[in-house]
Amino acid sequence: MDEDRTITTFLRAARIGIFDLSWNVLCPGCGSVLDAKATLGAVRREVYECQICAAGHEPTLDELVEVTFTVNHRVRKIDAHTPEILPIWEYYRQILWSTAVDLPDPFNAAIENAILESVELPPGGKAILSLPLPTGTVIVFEPATHASQFLDVRGEPTSARQNLSVLFNPIRAPSGMAQLQPGPLRLMLENRADTRVLPAVWLTGAAVHDLLGKRKPFLTANRLLSAGHARAHCASAPSLHVMASRCGRVGAVAWKSGPSPEAPMADRITTIVQLVRPCAERFLTGLLGRNPRPIAPQARQ
Ligand SMILES: [Zn+2]
Repeated sequence: MDEDRTITTFLRAARIGIFDLSWNVLCPGCGSVLDAKATLGAVRREVYECQICAAGHEPTLDELVEVTFTVNHRVRKIDAHTPEILPIWEYYRQILWSTAVDLPDPFNAAIENAILESVELPPGGKAILSLPLPTGTVIVFEPATHASQFLDVRGEPTSARQNLSVLFNPIRAPSGMAQLQPGPLRLMLENRADTRVLPAVWLTGAAVHDLLGKRKPFLTANRLLSAGHARAHCASAPSLHVMASRCGRVGAVAWKSGPSPEAPMADRITTIVQLVRPCAERFLTGLLGRNPRPIAPQARQ
């Protein structure tokens, strides 16, 4: 099947309401969807934080923005239209992880190897989990609120029970870190969000790598834009910030590897502008088409 024609067909179907198009910002570490927007222009933040990986990522078009098409609910009802009632691991599979993650088969067996425990809590719900903590890093992660609590488990094993409380609320707070010893843990969970939460206690290392370590090709925003397919979707609200970040990366590389530091500053800047310009030109061609209306020289600059 021709890739360009397939993308064009999906875009046309989205325009007439058969599919809902989504621009998803991905975490390159774990493959999670950090944010999903209906237009590229809405992808505005300079950095998107992943609470699982405890890292921030810049939404570069070529690597981190995924384009997906989901059948519209008026055409056909699917489970993903009501994520609030999906079974826990279907929520992780269909809502949290992107299409870039090549999840193993059988999926449930891989999940069981990667977690210690999981629970579903309705708004206002509480739970107490009793766990044997192994040495290493353990993460309490909740996908609906993207909240996480890191447990740094080290030192002498203990038989004394340790206690820890974790609250979930709608605010995406930075990840916390608690130091504990290997041994029994009484983990108290409380949901103060206005939505269901699905916390799980994750191990780190080989089991998680086996679950999330494989990647597969996905439709990137860059692929869509470079083919000129999506100008109707984003020309009205182009994300100049995304263009600037992309050109900025090219400029940074050019600054390090291009002109000699001994050259006059004006010459260095001229050289870098020449290197960055094709990047901006390609982006504009993607947004506006190969034969756009003439752009005023001042605007193009
Ligand atoms: Zn991540």
